[in-house]
Amino acid sequence: MTYVVTENCIKCKFMDCVEVCPVDCFYEGENMLVIHPDECIDCGVCEPECPAEAILPDTEDGVEKMLEVNREYAEKWPNITQKGEEPADAEEFNGKEGKFEEFFSPNPAAR
Ligand code: SF4
Ligand code: SF4
Repeated sequence: MTYVVTENCIKCKFMDCVEVCPVDCFYEGENMLVIHPDECIDCGVCEPECPAEAILPDTEDGVEKMLEVNREYAEKWPNITQKGEEPADAEEFNGKEGKFEEFFSPNPAAR
């Protein structure tokens, strides 16, 4: 089992989650984060930290697609362990529907 970063992280990317993860298994894309499913120890501490409620356990219905996205991009994006500056318009996108189709970016974080 693992936790999964789901669609509502896209363009919100508040990053409160990375500070609490004991095994540093978050990876940073241009506009969202993912969790490496093989590194996550399933402790659950990140879930309540996310202001966008974007982190869910993989036992939740409907997370299969995002689990595969987390798995694929955790291998491609750089590791992140410290909170950076959130996007200025993060709140505007919090809860917006259809963000994956419209805004998902396969690019790694620009750093
Ligand atoms: S706290 Fe939530 S919205 Fe912010 S980066 Fe982590 S998963 Fe994404
Ligand atoms: S559940 Fe625990 S180990 Fe997994 S990503 Fe969240 S904080 Fe890290």
